[in-house]
Amino acid sequence: ADLALYRAKYEGKAGYHFFETSLDEAARRRRQLEIDLREAIVNGGFELNFQPLYCVAERRLTGFEALLRWNHPDRGQTKPEEFIALAEETGLIVPIGEWVIREACHHASIWPDVLTVAVNVSPKQFAASGLSSAILQALSASGLAPHRLELEITERTFSADIDATLATLHRLRSIGVRIALDDFGTGYLSLSRLKCFPFDKLKIDRIFVEDLGNSVTGQAIIRAITTLADALGMETLAEGVEDIRQLEALAREGCGHVQGYLFSKPLSAEEVLSLLDAGEPSASRMFGK
Ligand code: C2E
Ligand code: MG
Ligand code: MG
Repeated sequence: ADLALYRAKYEGKAGYHFFETSLDEAARRRRQLEIDLREAIVNGGFELNFQPLYCVAERRLTGFEALLRWNHPDRGQTKPEEFIALAEETGLIVPIGEWVIREACHHASIWPDVLTVAVNVSPKQFAASGLSSAILQALSASGLAPHRLELEITERTFSADIDATLATLHRLRSIGVRIALDDFGTGYLSLSRLKCFPFDKLKIDRIFVEDLGNSVTGQAIIRAITTLADALGMETLAEGVEDIRQLEALAREGCGHVQGYLFSKPLSAEEVLSLLDAGEPSASRMFGK
């Protein structure tokens, strides 16, 4: 009855729902996934992949974005979309996120000093106390300079306690940590919010890059974003760049940085070290000329 009630509420107001066995199956799957997540936190079932980020003008590798993977005992390597939402609902994202920050700082401390690491931070981590101290601890344990750590937050971060969020962001930025706004353009962030917080970087969402090669409207949107970012003193990075025409359009419209399958898929920590061994010529080749 509770499951039926839950579903009826989920579907909106003034509705009803009968119990169905599928509801029970979904609840069981969820419960099992939660048990597996808790187990992975204790026994270390997670891994980070790193996707290279490039500066367009300098044709240079500038750093990597850390992307979480879960090596599930039955499902194999599992992507965040299958478990982040549950981790957020259950609060497990807090210990998982702390592990991600520690691990990302540790890996980056081995890379050359010019390279940065970007870490995705969930709104739930901002709502919980202790984010700043977890970051400070990770920095001091790894010896990573704060300016080499970039936090990627989404517009959702601003839907909760805005004052507390801004205070945390300002505190982190004052110690030198960089703050990027991820998936820019997909949420409800008002432009006035952009004025309130000096983001270091706007990450332009993949949906604006998809049809860029042959769309005049798409190019106009990119131009509008890069003009705005320039005026506010923020860098821009386009996500999900998959072909050379998109790259050319982005370069033309003033986008400073890129990331996507055209350059590289997310790599394991070992693959990152091989890429770094290959050196700068390989970065330049990525741009196709
Ligand atoms: P995101 O931060 O926007 O990360 C970019 C996503 O786009 C990654 O998916 C990446 O693999 C994918 N991608 C990169 N280049 C291309 C491309 O050229 N084409 C296409 N189609 N996709 C591309 P992934 O790794 O599955 O991560 C999905 C989302 O999960 C991330 O989106 C981020 O919001 C979240 N996430 C990942 N790791 C973490 C984490 O450690 N903590 C939290 N809270 N969220 C995370
Ligand atoms: Mg991201
Ligand atoms: Mg994104």
